Amino acid sequence: MDTLTSFLCGQWQAGAAPLTPIHAAATGEVIAQASSRGLDLGAALACARQHGGEALRSLTFAQRGERLGLLAQAVAAHRDELIDLSLRNMGTTRGDGKFDVDGASGTLAYYARLGAEWGDRRWLFDGDQVQFCRSKRFVGQHLWLPRRGVAIHINAFNFPTWNLSEKLACAWLAGVPVLAKPGTASAPVAHRLVSIWHAEGLIPPGALQLLCGGAGDLLDHVGPQDCIVFTGSGATAAQIKGHPAVLRHNVAVNVEADSLNAAVLGPDVAPGSDLWTMFLAEVAREMTQKAGQKCTAIRRIVVPRAVIAEVRAELTARLQDAAVGDPALSSTAVGPLAGPSQQRDVEAGIAALSATAELVWQAKGVPAAGCFAAPTLFQSELGAAAPFVHDHEIFGPCATLLPVDPAPATVAEVVAKGGGSLAASVFSDDAGWAREVILAIAPYTGRIYWGSAKVFDQGIGHGAVMPALVHGGPGKAGGGEELGGERGLRFYWQRVAVQGDTQLLRGLAG
Ligand code: NAP
Repeated sequence: MDTLTSFLCGQWQAGAAPLTPIHAAATGEVIAQASSRGLDLGAALACARQHGGEALRSLTFAQRGERLGLLAQAVAAHRDELIDLSLRNMGTTRGDGKFDVDGASGTLAYYARLGAEWGDRRWLFDGDQVQFCRSKRFVGQHLWLPRRGVAIHINAFNFPTWNLSEKLACAWLAGVPVLAKPGTASAPVAHRLVSIWHAEGLIPPGALQLLCGGAGDLLDHVGPQDCIVFTGSGATAAQIKGHPAVLRHNVAVNVEADSLNAAVLGPDVAPGSDLWTMFLAEVAREMTQKAGQKCTAIRRIVVPRAVIAEVRAELTARLQDAAVGDPALSSTAVGPLAGPSQQRDVEAGIAALSATAELVWQAKGVPAAGCFAAPTLFQSELGAAAPFVHDHEIFGPCATLLPVDPAPATVAEVVAKGGGSLAASVFSDDAGWAREVILAIAPYTGRIYWGSAKVFDQGIGHGAVMPALVHGGPGKAGGGEELGGERGLRFYWQRVAVQGDTQLLRGLAG
């Protein structure tokens, strides 16, 4: 069994007993263990501030981008190994493993290109000079500069490669060192990823550290120039935001949390049409990909009441085709959940939802050994008033049909009831109806996918997180924002307004 070490202050260090067991999700067997007990996390943060920050800030954007490009190449070179490890650890099917690993290399490569575009600068002007009094010579100018602290990245278990890489790409390009703490259930994959980069000499001293095991006393050591970027549950986010040291130093915290994403079918979409098929395929994929352990997965399916019988029948048929079982088999579409605690949470969520919504369909013959959950479809007639559906995210292969009157105001009320989500999708060729719905749900949503006949063949759907577009949502979804090109770097920068002489301020660029 592997004992995972942490990479801190330039050395691989083992935590003390007791160690947390890490499972092979498909069998339930313990394959690794990790602990952060006894590790000097204050020293790790100090090392990052002193060495990692200096190392990154001394590089130009182009040079930082070059580093990210090398990380991307290393991920691509070790693609099969990382996918295999993901299968062994989390029970991800090969397709789901590719989603994680290719998402990581793609995002790193995207930010590498952005660095190349920004060339030999090390920070950016924000907008133009602002004249605010009578003299044209006395002006103000906003600058974006990297803060002098550490970016603490606390990640969920579901995308160990992508989540670590996408956060790292933004922080490094911004010029800020990282301490990454992966979800313990999938820490073997994150550990291997960082080991590969370290072995290939791609990590400047102090620029990336890895903490395997619990967060321990990490947050006790945060300071006013540090920031925390968190992906995980709303409950953990609340603990982090309320941590005394975080409050004392006003440490910036970016949260990506629970999200009850909705897909909405327009009243114009006829059964059997291309758009109808696209909608059903998208919903079925979102329910089953990564066994539903995706932050953007569709949990609420809002359909016109007039076609609920057809949607129900066709969606059930599609779900029946998604074989659940051994993730190593190419015929398997749905693997297990990531570990026993995730399985317990999903089973409890399904039991609670069963008490208030109609169980439409549940997969049979799901393996008893390992951490499997049966794909499950519910229906509630209560729309925005449906209990549990809009409040609790079941992080597994489960969603609820909500038949409604498709008036834009009614649809928007149902979507808004989720309290803020990462993503929503609207399927309609009726530009007027879709416009009303999109603009009404926009304040509650981080990203909206508009499926229409015109984008039928474009491949990218509801669940894909694109580095050029922001990722994050309001309210229940955490209120955070990541990625989105340059927007993803701003969290790591201090925006400062400098007032002075026009020419002297221009000279700040060097
Ligand atoms: P979680 O239990 O909240 O854990 C997330 C991370 O926080 C893990 O690394 C965990 O470490 C760590 N953690 C736990 N308690 C902590 C504390 N007191 N202080 C500091 N760190 C702490 O969530 P999860 O079960 O891994 O992930 C599932 C949830 O994440 C779902 O609710 C899902 O919606 C959400 N999610 C959101 C997004 C998004 O982008 N919005 C993406 C993926 C997942 P350990 O693993 O060691 O406990």
